[in-house]
Amino acid sequence: MKHSCPDVKCPSRHLPGPDSEHVIRFGTFFRKSDSRHIDRFRCQICKATFSKSTLLPNYRQKVRRITHPLEELLCSGVSQRRSAMLLGVARTTISRRVRYLGARARRSNQKHLRPLEQNPAVEVQFDDLETHEHTKCKPLSVSLVVQSQTRKILGFTVSRMPAKGRLSKIALEKYGPRPDERQAGWRELLSLVQSYVSPSATITSDDNPHYPKVVERHFPDATHVTVKGGRGAITGQGELKKLKYDPIFSLNHTCAMLRANLNRLFRRTWCTTKTIQGLIDHLSIYVAFHNRRLTSFGPDQTTDCSAQATAITAS
Ligand SMILES: [Zn+2]
Repeated sequence: MKHSCPDVKCPSRHLPGPDSEHVIRFGTFFRKSDSRHIDRFRCQICKATFSKSTLLPNYRQKVRRITHPLEELLCSGVSQRRSAMLLGVARTTISRRVRYLGARARRSNQKHLRPLEQNPAVEVQFDDLETHEHTKCKPLSVSLVVQSQTRKILGFTVSRMPAKGRLSKIALEKYGPRPDERQAGWRELLSLVQSYVSPSATITSDDNPHYPKVVERHFPDATHVTVKGGRGAITGQGELKKLKYDPIFSLNHTCAMLRANLNRLFRRTWCTTKTIQGLIDHLSIYVAFHNRRLTSFGPDQTTDCSAQATAITAS
């Protein structure tokens, strides 16, 4: 029995000997929300009782049965409101669970990418995807790093940016000046993925004039290849390019998958991001799903080339 008293002020924590001397089994209780019998324990020093779920992040969570289906729905183009309707719970329950799932996904993403620290990626692709919070006058930029061979997402950051083109004047009048946080976002992203990418890796990105400086700073020994962005293969689908060979195909394919699977990133959706944290949580949940289930092939069975061949035929 490895349980110790959950009370940090309890003297039992400083007593010598194993915790099993101070903590005894104290029956069980039936948890209705997932129909499980949970063991209870009691600290013999302070007489406090607790269960093995007391210190877990989902302690006191109700309707536990929705967690897993909600994760799948959110990564399959279903909105939060529709998920609430389909799962028969309140919208608030869903939004709270999204926060929990986001935090859980971030921990699991880190754990899942840990093998790359020993065997870092030698080819990665890097680019931005644009979306907005609440209105198109408040654009957001999602920067992504994808491993070329496996299409696994190694990291992402979300940054605010000012509106461009026709909207810039309206946006300035309505919402005032908006900071451009993209540079800081790229720097944060590249330092985030530094442990997963080999220092001498080949980093491919589009020809954004700001990229070389940022890449140079974090990966001075890497080969940075910049490519010209092509036109979208299908109207309204800017991610898959009308090129015979797209050098940043893995990244563009991943962005297309984000657009297809996250309701808030659909083109012409009426679902919008309300808060940046909400978008970060949703992206974290999707990254876990993408890396573990949608790209669950090994490095020797990459679908990189076959997927590109299919995309070209489709266009
Ligand atoms: Zn105690």
